[in-house]
Amino acid sequence: PTPDPATGAAVKAMDRAHVFHSWSAQGLIDPLAVAGAEGAYFWDYDGNRYLDFSSQLVNTNIGHQHPKVVAAVREQAAKLCTIAPGFAVDVRSEAARLIAERTPGDLDKIFFTNGGAEAVENAVRMARLHTGRPKVLSAYRSYHGATAAAINLTGDPRRWPSDTASAGVVHFWGPFLYRSPFHSADERQECERALAHLEETIAFEGPQSIAAIILETVPGTAGIMVPPPGYLAGVREICDRYGIVFVLDEVMAGFGRTGHWFAADHFGVTPDLLTFAKGVNSGYVPLGGVAISARIAADFDQRPYPGGLTYSGHPLACASAVATINAMAEEGIVENAAEIGEKVIGPGLREIAERHPSVGEVRGLGVFWALDLVKSKETREPLVPYNASGPANQPMAEFAAACKRGGLWPFVNMNRTHVVPPCTITEAEAKEGLAILDEALSAADAHTV
Ligand code: PLP
Repeated sequence: PTPDPATGAAVKAMDRAHVFHSWSAQGLIDPLAVAGAEGAYFWDYDGNRYLDFSSQLVNTNIGHQHPKVVAAVREQAAKLCTIAPGFAVDVRSEAARLIAERTPGDLDKIFFTNGGAEAVENAVRMARLHTGRPKVLSAYRSYHGATAAAINLTGDPRRWPSDTASAGVVHFWGPFLYRSPFHSADERQECERALAHLEETIAFEGPQSIAAIILETVPGTAGIMVPPPGYLAGVREICDRYGIVFVLDEVMAGFGRTGHWFAADHFGVTPDLLTFAKGVNSGYVPLGGVAISARIAADFDQRPYPGGLTYSGHPLACASAVATINAMAEEGIVENAAEIGEKVIGPGLREIAERHPSVGEVRGLGVFWALDLVKSKETREPLVPYNASGPANQPMAEFAAACKRGGLWPFVNMNRTHVVPPCTITEAEAKEGLAILDEALSAADAHTV
C-alpha cells in the first residue's frame, strides 16, 4: 500500500483526543496508527510493515483477513446481523456443534459470551451454583481477564488495584521448574511438590468451602509454562476427591495455539468447565464462551441459569467462528502450528538461546513459546525486576524497540518475550521473524552481567 503519513497523523490525533486506552497512563502512550493487515503482517501509514509475532493479543490464530472468514461475516451481515439469545439460529447452533465436537470429553453444551473474561465470570458462577461453595483457587502466575471475578483470579500485578473486591479468591503456586517455588531439581519433583502444595492449600482453606480450581492449561501471559507430565491429571484427581469443579481456561491456549485444538488434548485431561475466546474466531468479531460438562449442564435442566448477555451467541460472531473452525480444519492450520513449532520455532529458538547470554530459557510448544530473559544464565536473575516500569524496564523497552526497527512486532511481558505468531505462519515467515529476533536480542545482551 502507498504510504499516507498525513492520514496516519490525523488518525492518531483523533485517537489521542478521544480514545481512552486499556492498562495505560493516557498521557504517556503513543499508539501506532495501523492502516491494514493481511495474514501474519500488518502495516502503518508511513510505509512500515510488521511481521506479527504477537498475533495481536495472541488471538489472530488464523491470521488477518482470512478470505473465508471475511466472506462469512459479510454473508451473515446481509442475512441477519443480530437476534436475541433466546432464539434458535442456524449459525449459533452450528458454532456450538463445531466447538462441542472438539472440546474434550462430555463438554457438549456451550454458553456463549463476548470474550474471555465473561467466560471466566460465568464458569465461576456455574461452579459456585453447582457446589454451593464460595471459594475459588487460582495460580499466582496467571491471567484470567479484567472483569470483577476474572481480575481477582488473575495472579499478575494487574490484580492489585482491584484486590479489595477479591472475596473468595485464594492463590497458589503452579509448577514452573525454571523458577521453581518449590526448589525442585527436576520435573517429576516439581510435579509432586506442586500437587502437595495445592492439596495443603485446600486443607488449610477448608475443602468444603472450595467451589472451583481454575488453571490455564498452559499459562499464557504469565510465561508459557507447559505443566510437567502428571500435573493436570493430579489436579483432576484432587478435584474429584474433594468435589471441587475443575475449570481449564483455554482462552489463550485453545483453538490450535499449542498444536492441538485444545491444550488439554496434550495431557488427556477433561475439566468440568472449559473457557474459550480469542482463537475460536481469531477475534474477527468478539466471541468467547464456556463449554459445560453434562453433569453441570444438567443442574440447569429444571431451574433457570441465572446469567445472560444481550449479545450471547451473536450471529456475526458465530458465523465467523463457523468459518474459522471449518477453515482451520480444511487447511490443516492446527497441524501447521504443531509442525512449525516442532521443526522451525522450537529448534530455531534453542539455537538463538545458545548465542545470546540474555536468553535464560526457551519453553513452549506449537506456536506458543517464551524466551525468559536474564541478567545471567547462571543466577537466572530476570533481565528486569518483577513488574518493572520506567527506567527499571529500560532493557526490555530497548529490546522491543529493536524488534520493531527490524520489522517484527513482539509480545513482551516483564522479562519475557513470547513468540506467538498466527497458527498459519509459514516456515519462511517464521525464519524471517527468528532472524529479526536474533538480531534484536543484542539489545538485551547489552544488559547482562
Ligand atoms: N483468560 C486467559 C487465559 C487470557 O489469556 C485472557 C486474555 O488474554 C482472558 C482470559 C481474558 O480474555 P478477554 O480479554 O477476551 O476478556
